[in-house]
Amino acid sequence: MSVAIVTGASRGIGAAVAIAAARDGYSVCINYLHSEDHAQAVRAQIESAGGKAIVVRGDVAVEEDVTRLFEQSAAELGEVTALVNNAGILEHHDRLENMSTERFRRVFNTNVIGSMMCAREAIKRMSTHNGGIGGSIVNVSSMAARLGAPNEYVDYAASKGAIDSLTIGLARETGDCGIRVNAVRPGVIYTDIHASGGEPDRVERVKAGVPMLRGGTAEEVADAVLWLMSAQSAYCTGTFIDVSGGR
Ligand code: NAP
Repeated sequence: MSVAIVTGASRGIGAAVAIAAARDGYSVCINYLHSEDHAQAVRAQIESAGGKAIVVRGDVAVEEDVTRLFEQSAAELGEVTALVNNAGILEHHDRLENMSTERFRRVFNTNVIGSMMCAREAIKRMSTHNGGIGGSIVNVSSMAARLGAPNEYVDYAASKGAIDSLTIGLARETGDCGIRVNAVRPGVIYTDIHASGGEPDRVERVKAGVPMLRGGTAEEVADAVLWLMSAQSAYCTGTFIDVSGGR
């Protein structure tokens, strides 16, 4: 049985990935931090379509929460075969010289250290070197890793640059233990994350600069994630898919 843990799956891209994974036959562990109602709604949608899902609250930036997330998922669904490191945050648009050190730490704790702790737990459980059956990790990076997000959130862009390096390094490190590590780089996608930056309608402002002249949907990102999770991408590791309308 295929079991997917999707971090930050209560809303946005993570919710779309959880729903698509269940559609494709995965039992899904829906992780969330604050939005219990949204997470339960994702579970209800999966179950009403005949799928299997559980909801586990946990902060990916807190080690005990990450450990418990993987333990609970294994106990209730079976051992993890796919991890989607999706949980991510950004803060208000600003220039770096105005940002606090605490902000840098918040962004990196969730986006980078959270992803690394989840990857570590997944690798311990999936690695054929440890008696596991292998698996797939998909990291949700961002086009910001390449564009830098000047005057908006350079700190966030730097955290996604770290995710790109993590993807390359882990892919090479785990290539001989049955694990593939890939990433998607979404462009501007219609989700609530832009409200965290202080501009809920950011996609409307930015889309004129996208070659395809529109923002993307969470479902379009989920389709790329699901392909990277699936056997159809069996010979891909350390690969990136830009889901950005050509931006
Ligand atoms: P979103 O709508 O703001 O949703 C964020 C999700 O992450 C929520 O489910 C939230 O849970 C969860 N989360 C936040 N901090 C968490 C933590 N510490 N522990 C566990 N869960 C946590 O964001 P989104 O737009 O879907 O973004 C998802 C990923 O795509 C992020 O990594 C983001 O950087 C990346 N991305 C997004 C875009 C875009 O344009 N939307 C573009 C490029 C990359 P609660 O609601 O329960 O707090």
